[in-house]
Amino acid sequence: MSDIVREAQDFLMNTNVEQKIYGDNSSAIYNTTLNELHRLENMMSFYRETSEVSLLNQQSGKKTIKLSKEMMLVLQQSNYYSLLSESAFNIMLSPLIQLWKKLGKKNELPSDKDIENTLKLCRNNNLMLDASDDTAYLALEGCMVDLGGIGKGFAADVCCNVYKDMGATSAFINLGGNVKAIGNRADGNQWTIGIQHPDKPRGNCYCAMICSDLSVVTSGGYERYQEINGVKYHHILDGGTGYPSKTDLKSVTVVSQSSIQADALSTAAFVMGLKKGIDLVYMSKCVGAIFFTLSNEIYMTKGVKQHIKLLERLTCYEV
Ligand code: ADP
Ligand code: MG
Repeated sequence: MSDIVREAQDFLMNTNVEQKIYGDNSSAIYNTTLNELHRLENMMSFYRETSEVSLLNQQSGKKTIKLSKEMMLVLQQSNYYSLLSESAFNIMLSPLIQLWKKLGKKNELPSDKDIENTLKLCRNNNLMLDASDDTAYLALEGCMVDLGGIGKGFAADVCCNVYKDMGATSAFINLGGNVKAIGNRADGNQWTIGIQHPDKPRGNCYCAMICSDLSVVTSGGYERYQEINGVKYHHILDGGTGYPSKTDLKSVTVVSQSSIQADALSTAAFVMGLKKGIDLVYMSKCVGAIFFTLSNEIYMTKGVKQHIKLLERLTCYEV
């Protein structure tokens, strides 16, 4: 393959990673991003026993753990978005996620008591961070950190920093729907990022986002869910109720210069629903967001209007 363009698909961080890198150095840049993605997986994976996340989880209620600066940064960012979203974004929900998974396999729903007991482990303030020496402590045994709602965004930012640092002027990464693009496409046009239609087979987009140097991240309940007694329960939970978020949205797409921000905000806004989600987006000062509601209407904030090309006839409001 020529060194001018490197296009690659890999399975990393439990997701499909697609990259397009243009420039003289593209193969070397690609190899560097692969190393970075392996490194981040070793840091953030919930399932690898030796990851920093696992070491912290294994010591819940027991010991304070020394973390890398980078891990500390991700946890601090997670806490920041929890605060901004009134805990709609919460990396401590794993005990609840495990409960739903375990019972779902037996086609059972959790009891109120199960949920009440589990929610005690999920409170945000059970994660104690000390930035003065990069240490963390989980206050109760059984507490767990899960970076599933923010880790891919962070990884996209890290890879885009590699692209820029190594001289790529045009590059694109898609980590399982978490997209970030650098510069313009090789032909000089802006990047076109398709936004999945929540009700249609994968690859069917309801709109295109035309942009450069931006990240575009979608959260929705349509792709990952389990069925219990014939009812679908999606994978984004509401730490207030202990149930999958009962939202008025099918999906939320957030656009931001920062992919970690877009990832956290899209998950949070999905939990919060349309009205509070719009407030969150304006409060966070990201570029903007598009909301796809349960009644198939589109709401977009002012900042994204110039980037959007609707591909379907849908009722669309600017908010
Ligand atoms: P996806 O990983 O499907 O692209 P998200 O970024 O929205 O979507 O993250 C969902 C994942 O985040 C879940 O699989 C789970 O690990 C975790 N999670 C679930 N609910 C929340 C929540 N309210 N806040 C933060 N993380 C969550
Ligand atoms: Mg997310």
